[in-house]
Amino acid sequence: MTGPRIPGTVLRPGGIDPWRLFVAQGPNLVEQARDARRQARHYAKGPYVGSVVLAYSHATDNIGIFTGANQNLAPGDNPTKVCAERVALQKAVHHKFSHVIAMVTTGEPQPDTQSGKAFATLHTCGIDRAVMQARPEVYGDTLIMTVQPDKDVFELYPFGRFVDLHDTDALEPEHHNDPGFRRWQAGVSDYDLYQSGLTPSRDDIAASPADLAVMAVTGGFRCPIISLD
Ligand SMILES: [Zn+2]
Repeated sequence: MTGPRIPGTVLRPGGIDPWRLFVAQGPNLVEQARDARRQARHYAKGPYVGSVVLAYSHATDNIGIFTGANQNLAPGDNPTKVCAERVALQKAVHHKFSHVIAMVTTGEPQPDTQSGKAFATLHTCGIDRAVMQARPEVYGDTLIMTVQPDKDVFELYPFGRFVDLHDTDALEPEHHNDPGFRRWQAGVSDYDLYQSGLTPSRDDIAASPADLAVMAVTGGFRCPIISLD
């Protein structure tokens, strides 16, 4: 699950910072996940799930966006059952994208089958969490965003923390309500500010680009207001 971060990609001349792209494109990715969810098929009431993977290729310097929907046409474990997240992830892997920057998933919230825990949004299932832990394309700082289908209520965690939420009782989940994703508009400038190193507390937070993206989007860190008096 851990691995080298992309060397030198935080701000590459002429290149794209994929985490900045995630912050800039967040609401758009949510819309794509909701669109993908419309392709979901379920024999019962659901959940109907759509997922989007934003992935980076070290080899080509490209960014790819891949979508998936779940399908489950019969009760119990059966060959028709496939998760949205795995479909999207497999597409990214198939197209040789080497680093999953973010995965955005939407579906009706229900308690997690493996951990039994309930969250504000539908979490990627334990089987997929295990699949993702085994994939070299998924890193501890891959961002996992889960969103309600009809409301802009979301959770956003680095993958390592997402897994820990299920495996330990030490962590508290956090969900964010952001109708219209207004905060995301400010998020890009916040992200740029954090990356610039001009914020007084930048050294204290010792954050990766993924951490900075989470903070920019959720408002977890704000530049102190400096009084000129
Ligand atoms: Zn799953």
